[in-house]
Amino acid sequence: MEWKRILSGMRPTGKLHLGNLHGALLNWKELQKDYQCFFFIADWHALTTEYKEPKAIHENILDMVIDWMSVGLDPKISTFFLQSAVKEHAELHLILSMITPLSWLERNPTYKEQQQELESKEIGTYGFIGYPVLQAADILMYKAHAVPVGIDQAPHVELTREIARRFNFLYEEVFPVPDTLLTETPKLTGLDGRKMSKSYENAVFLSDSKEEIRHKLSQMVTDPQRARRKDPGNPEVCILFPFHKIYSSQERIDEIERECRRAGIGCVDCKKWLIDQVLKTLSPIKEKRDYWTQNLREVQSILMAGTERARAFSQETMKEVRQAIGF
Ligand code: SF4
Repeated sequence: MEWKRILSGMRPTGKLHLGNLHGALLNWKELQKDYQCFFFIADWHALTTEYKEPKAIHENILDMVIDWMSVGLDPKISTFFLQSAVKEHAELHLILSMITPLSWLERNPTYKEQQQELESKEIGTYGFIGYPVLQAADILMYKAHAVPVGIDQAPHVELTREIARRFNFLYEEVFPVPDTLLTETPKLTGLDGRKMSKSYENAVFLSDSKEEIRHKLSQMVTDPQRARRKDPGNPEVCILFPFHKIYSSQERIDEIERECRRAGIGCVDCKKWLIDQVLKTLSPIKEKRDYWTQNLREVQSILMAGTERARAFSQETMKEVRQAIGF
C-alpha cells in the first residue's frame, strides 16, 4: 500500500519555543505514524520577510533540525530537507507564478493582515505577495495528499488546491489536489497572554536552561485581582492556568480550579507545581538536545541525506511538469 504523503515546513527565523512544540511539532510527531512525511526548513520563505538580515536565517537551520529530532521527529522515517538546496522549488515556483492570477494573491486574507503586522519589515515586495505560490510549489512538488494546518492557514492550502487544478486543467493531470488536514492544537499563549513569539519576548524556548525556564515562569503575572494570598482568585482570567491544562494531571487541574477560587492555594505554590511539570516534560527533550548539540556533524549529514532524497523526488516531478508544458 502506498503511504499518503504530507508536507509541512517551518521558517528558520528564530529559536523554537513551547508554542511551536504544542502548535505544530507534537502533531507532526503523531503524523509520522500514518503518513510519509516531508518536513522542510523554509529558508526561502524566511527571506520574504528577513531579506535585510539573511545571515540570521542561516544560523537557525541546524538548530531547528536539532529541535525537531529532540521532540521525536525521526529522520529514519521522515524526510527533512532544506528548501533552498532543492533548486527545483524555484523552477516550479516560477512556472506556477505564470498561471496564478494576481487577484488570487491579492485576496489572500493573511496578505493584508501581515503587511500591517510586519509594517517595519518593508514587505511590499514581489516575493512577499507571491509567497503562497512558493508554498504551492513546495506542496505540489511532493504530490502531497494532505497538508496539516491550523484554521488560519487553511486559505493558503485552498490557494494551492486552486493552482493545482489550474495546472492540471491547462496542461496535464500532474498534481493530486491536496486535502487540508485541519489540526486542533492546545491553546498556549506567551508568558504575557499574547501569542507566544520571539519578537514579543514572551517565549519559553526549547533550548532554554532549567534556570531560565524557572525564572521565566515564576515571573508570570497571575490573576491581577488577586493582590494578597488570602484573596480568592479566578483561574479563568489567569494566564498561567492554561499552562496547567497542558502540563498537569486532571486531578491537579481540578484542585487548582477549586482551591484558587477559595484562596486555598497561593500563586507561588501554583507556579511551583507548573514549573516542576514543565521541567519534567521537557527533560527528555533537553537530554536529546544536548546530545545533538554536541554532534553537529551528524545533524548536518542527516539534513543533507534528507535533502538528497527530496531532490531526487522533485527531479522526477519536474520531468513530468516540463513534459506537460512541452519544455
Ligand atoms: S492560584 Fe494558580 S490559577 Fe489561581 S490565580 Fe494563582 S496562579 Fe492563577
